[in-house]
Amino acid sequence: MAENADLFPHDGSLERLPAAERDRKMSVKLQRLVSYAYNKAPGFKQRLDGAGIKPDDIKGLSDLQRIPVLRKDDLIRLQKEMPPFGGYLAVPLSEIDHIYQSPGPIYDPQRRLRAGAFPADIGKGQVAINTWSYHITPAGLLIDRMLNGMGFTVFPAGTGNTELQVQVMRDLKVSFFVGTPSFLAAIIKKAEEMGYDFKKDFNLKFAQVAGEMGGEPLRKMFTEKYGIICMGGDNYLTADIGPIAGSCEANAGMHVNTDVIVEIVDPTTGNTLPPGEVGEIVVTPFDQVYPLIRFGTGDLSTLVTETCACGRTTPRLPKIMGRSGDAVRVRAMFVHPRQTDEVISKFAEIGCYQITVTRPADRDEMLLQVEFATEPVDRGSWEESLRKEFQNACKVRFDSLEVLAAGSIPPDGKRIIDKRVY
Ligand SMILES: [Zn+2]
Repeated sequence: MAENADLFPHDGSLERLPAAERDRKMSVKLQRLVSYAYNKAPGFKQRLDGAGIKPDDIKGLSDLQRIPVLRKDDLIRLQKEMPPFGGYLAVPLSEIDHIYQSPGPIYDPQRRLRAGAFPADIGKGQVAINTWSYHITPAGLLIDRMLNGMGFTVFPAGTGNTELQVQVMRDLKVSFFVGTPSFLAAIIKKAEEMGYDFKKDFNLKFAQVAGEMGGEPLRKMFTEKYGIICMGGDNYLTADIGPIAGSCEANAGMHVNTDVIVEIVDPTTGNTLPPGEVGEIVVTPFDQVYPLIRFGTGDLSTLVTETCACGRTTPRLPKIMGRSGDAVRVRAMFVHPRQTDEVISKFAEIGCYQITVTRPADRDEMLLQVEFATEPVDRGSWEESLRKEFQNACKVRFDSLEVLAAGSIPPDGKRIIDKRVY
């Protein structure tokens, strides 16, 4: 890749442009990407030809949805038919630095070497410690390169060996930690056991901690007790695409990186959905090595398009809401068990619950059944706030609520049951 000109150079200024202006620039870049991929990647040519589309038909972002979504299953099949990269590698193998394997199996050539979603240049002259694994899966090396892009000098620590990590962090005056929250907690504990005062004797100012459920209390503790600023910790990257979105210093969702186009689509039709609606994340990376145009991630989210408190105008993914296969579509909105779990967890009175979707006339109806762990004090206002929370999280109302006797709902059963017949 070194000798090749960068056909789709990173342009940091796109992050703060008015949306219409950015879309115009991205449209021009997209036209170039489509014709480049058509000429260089036989797998992509096959897909366009199969759909009866010519590269010239794609004139801008709004035409993108005409290209069929490339599913992970398609990629597994294509890689078997045209090994090893399914006809999507657009450069000779000699220009690939690394190959990774992800479940499927799918082989992923390593290509993009950029900072990606992170704010650039916050790390000049500082040392970061990266405790993600550097083997087999791409996390360690991808984050390493992103840290370089942010200006950091990286100590590639990898996992384990807590005592050594403590020593390195002290000796090199590490100011940025990347890894899981529990590993950072273990390092701090070890440092204290070794007789250090972590806040005084160490230089750790930032941490980017992710990869575990329930890391929130630890993040709070790092900030309150040790003065470490936790950068959201939310990054969205996949083995196939690389970095897609990441949180900023305002911690208000993950900004979509300007080296990719993210669409939220209806998983059945592949059509783009408007901002605010939940659908599948489909990504088009500006990638001259491995142009997986319209790659369906199978993950569900929604796009927030308002300008962020940090000043960036790029759209944000508030969070990943689960896998599209587990979601049920009710009155045009996707409802995922992870969303409903979150709503229900706010109501301690509910022991367990189940949602049943039916279609008695030509309208989807959603029945919420609950078992009480404890009876709510004021049933009326309790139900009202449950309805409100549900509507906020799922963007769709349930039609009726039933309280069942304890033991009626199978404790490990499915939480959303779709009984519709078409
Ligand atoms: Zn922001």
